Amino acid sequence: MSETTTRTVDATLPLPDALWIGGQWHPEAEGGYLELVEPATEQTLARVPAAGRGDVDRALQVAEQAFRKGDWAYRTDRADVLYRVAASIRRHAETLAQIESRNVGKPIGDARWEILAGARCFEYYAGGISRFGGETIPVAAQGFDYTLRVPVGVVACIVPWNFPFLMACWKVAPALATGNSVVLKPASLTPLTALALGFVAQEAELPGDVFQVVAGRGSEVGDYLVQHPLVRKIAFTGETSTGAHILKLAADDIKRVSLELGGKSPNIVFADADIDAAASAAPMAVFANAGQDCCARSRVLVEQSVYEAFLERFVESTRQLLVGDPAEEATQVGPLVSAAQRNRVETYLEVARQDGGRVLTGGERLDRPGYFLRPAVVDGLPSQSRVCQEEIFGPIACVMPFRDERHAIQLANDTPYGLSGSVWTRDVERALRVARAVETGVLSVNTNSSVYQEAPFGGFKQSGFGRDLGMEAMRLYTEVKNVFIAVDREGA
Ligand code: NAP
Repeated sequence: MSETTTRTVDATLPLPDALWIGGQWHPEAEGGYLELVEPATEQTLARVPAAGRGDVDRALQVAEQAFRKGDWAYRTDRADVLYRVAASIRRHAETLAQIESRNVGKPIGDARWEILAGARCFEYYAGGISRFGGETIPVAAQGFDYTLRVPVGVVACIVPWNFPFLMACWKVAPALATGNSVVLKPASLTPLTALALGFVAQEAELPGDVFQVVAGRGSEVGDYLVQHPLVRKIAFTGETSTGAHILKLAADDIKRVSLELGGKSPNIVFADADIDAAASAAPMAVFANAGQDCCARSRVLVEQSVYEAFLERFVESTRQLLVGDPAEEATQVGPLVSAAQRNRVETYLEVARQDGGRVLTGGERLDRPGYFLRPAVVDGLPSQSRVCQEEIFGPIACVMPFRDERHAIQLANDTPYGLSGSVWTRDVERALRVARAVETGVLSVNTNSSVYQEAPFGGFKQSGFGRDLGMEAMRLYTEVKNVFIAVDREGA
């Protein structure tokens, strides 16, 4: 335990300071240490060991041996174990939420929701085990044909810093449910709750060899992990450029890859919509998690005839957001995750001004320690401005007018991304047409809420491929094996 951990109160779940490999805690690692800073205070939060190549090797060898033994994949009580994991997460939910909130800078209410969603994810896939299987196929031959869904093998789950615990659960739970062995690599800025999953695994008596957590720098061990011959599948969430790099590295061995990448999602508001509802919901659709959300509806497209009325309300609602200490219950927007991330966002505000945009509100730092930035609303930019094209991953929304439905769809699809989006209209036929035409993996109508445990989630275009969540995720972690058994029609 590091001396800087005194605010953690759950004695049975201390702030993690070791890697979890082979059912053992490893307080030392080859890559030195990751020094973690609390985004809301700029103070040191904790220090955790950083995996080097030897640590990655060890974790993969343990995982591979577990898979070769086959015990986990053939265990008939896998669901019971995963339910125990969920119960352990629920037992420690408050502690996990406090850790997540302090490590990422996210409001404590959001962190609580995410931790419980992680528990629900394990429960969902525990239940999914008995509902997920192959099929029988009436082939044109004398015999019996069926398919099996078999685990892929050792899965490397690589997750980002914006939803560290939840993204880990989205990958680890279906991978374990389908009988794989897992090595989880969290982001270097936010490894704490991923490492805490080691405690949870231990408490739930998940076999120590099927789940390993190796915190480590992507720049140092990322390529090594991805290219390692023992890895059969990579489940990645992160930036599009990192995803493209991983895809190339995985090509030589034809590794299975699924990629959940960046977004630049549209929030389309038609004149016939409930404008008050759309305008009051729009700020949190982009500024939640300080805009560090792959689903952020960061391009707000508004029909010309209601543009000014909407803009006025949107700006007003944005000004009313409570920006501040993530430990406060009422806080809606916390700090950005790091000084570097805030600098990056501020650079985009400069680009916005250079490109002729008007910053109607926000963009200022708070007069206190922490990487805070007031949510900014910008209009007057052409769709081709970098601010409207690139994923900023911070609290900036671009508002643009459109003429008609065709123009709205054209603007909505005018980026390399295709992850999420919303349509606001009272016209059912229009809602159906636009929902179909917008090139995104996920879309919501008259709400900005479109991510559900039971439903598939993922991107089109450069937002990636493969689907997390729902039963689709169980497919991601399995191979289809077809078996044909010849049957003599006449018998003996
Ligand atoms: P990132 O820089 O791509 O990092 C993601 C993960 O990849 C981290 O664990 C990182 O480790 C690791 N990594 C870096 N280089 C690697 C390499 N060469 N090989 C293997 N792993 C490597 O992304 P981020 O900045 O953490 O997260 C923000 C991004 O995630 C945004 O683009 C966001 O849209 C995306 N995201 C997408 C979804 C979705 O479901 N579509 C959900 C959440 C976030 P280090 O931290 O050590 O560098």
